[in-house]
Amino acid sequence: MKEHHRKRILVTGGAGFLGSHLCERLVMQGQDVLCVDNFYTGTKDNIAHLLDCANFDLMRHDVTFPLYVEVDEIYNLACPASPVHYQHDPVQTTKTSVHGAINMLGLAKRVKARIFQASTSEVYGDALVHPQKEDYWGHVNPLGPRACYDEGKRCAETLFVDYRRQHGLSIKIARIFNTYGPRMHPCDGRVISNFMMQALAGKPITIYGDGLQTRSFCYVDDMIDAFIRLMNSPEGITGPMNLGNPHELSMLDIARRIIELTGSSSEIVFAPLPMDDPCHRQPDIRFAIDTLGWKPETGLDEGLNRTARYFRRFTQEAAVRSDLPLPA
Ligand code: NAD
Ligand code: UDP
Ligand code: UDP
Repeated sequence: MKEHHRKRILVTGGAGFLGSHLCERLVMQGQDVLCVDNFYTGTKDNIAHLLDCANFDLMRHDVTFPLYVEVDEIYNLACPASPVHYQHDPVQTTKTSVHGAINMLGLAKRVKARIFQASTSEVYGDALVHPQKEDYWGHVNPLGPRACYDEGKRCAETLFVDYRRQHGLSIKIARIFNTYGPRMHPCDGRVISNFMMQALAGKPITIYGDGLQTRSFCYVDDMIDAFIRLMNSPEGITGPMNLGNPHELSMLDIARRIIELTGSSSEIVFAPLPMDDPCHRQPDIRFAIDTLGWKPETGLDEGLNRTARYFRRFTQEAAVRSDLPLPA
């Protein structure tokens, strides 16, 4: 890439699961990437392979504090995504979503950068409309244990559209549905990482509730394609835009699939369903298909096999070490 085409791109939460894949893709494109992370749920290991690249920089910083850097584009991904982690310190979760958004929008305003927000299907809450379309306002309990995340992300969306209306910012809002793949933290408590680690270790698979609740899982590479397409879409396309794979499965289905694909002898056990756990979730992605020419390409078995290859190394490590981090 010629020097004058190279963009300076800030990725907040760049050491996390999605952020590290995004940094990698942007570095490979030849962009100048600044990864900002406070390592709350992300790790240096996720971006260790990029540290020697001349077009990659890493800064330890918490986005709830102001940040003064000069960039052309901002992907704002900083925020824990696993319910276990975002509920561990709920006040910090709201601060990260809200103060983090204000700071990154203030930065975007000062340097006239385009800014992308990693929003979430959680803005729909325990949805009463199925599948969920962008014009659905959602069904969120503002007082429950998920509210710090759901309402924080909803407020961030409000800030994004108001900075556009009031200050003319160039914004892109992605509503991300459940995404999985290599570099999910093995102990982060989300369903795919839990089931994978349990299946590979031959331990019981913990289904919460009756397992009939559904989610729709997108493989990480497809999601990163969508991020970059949305960021580079025409100015008038601001979103919010649903991004995800509409292939809907129950937690029982996904447990059985993971047991089969990993050749595991694990049994399934049932545990209480967490409060406010959404019953069903499936994205309507017609808007993304029509405007980005994008749709997910990776099938579930292929994605799970690639993810299992990644998680195998942790179960092998765990066999010789007992000090690996465990979920809070
Ligand atoms: P993750 O937890 O792996 O990554 C989040 C990253 O943000 C971590 O590296 C963490 O250390 C960092 N971070 C947290 N608070 C911070 C702060 N105050 N300052 C700086 N860095 C901070 O999660 P992920 O799955 O990669 O999610 C990335 C983004 O995408 C999040 O905003 C999340 O809400 C959103 N999202 C993800 C999914 C999914 O299924 N993975 C679904 C919907 C939305
Ligand atoms: N900010 C930042 N980096 C910048 C510019 C602003 O972190 O380069 C933060 C700063 O903390 C500010 C917030 O973004 O309070 C919102 O900025 P804005 O200009 O919208 O409002 P201000 O509070 O400065 O009036
Ligand atoms: N879940 C489960 N067992 C686990 C972890 C999660 O049955 O070990 C369920 C959880 O109750 C929810 C679904 O799997 O219904 C997805 O949970 P996750 O935490 O991955 O993400 P969510 O979509 O709820 O934010």
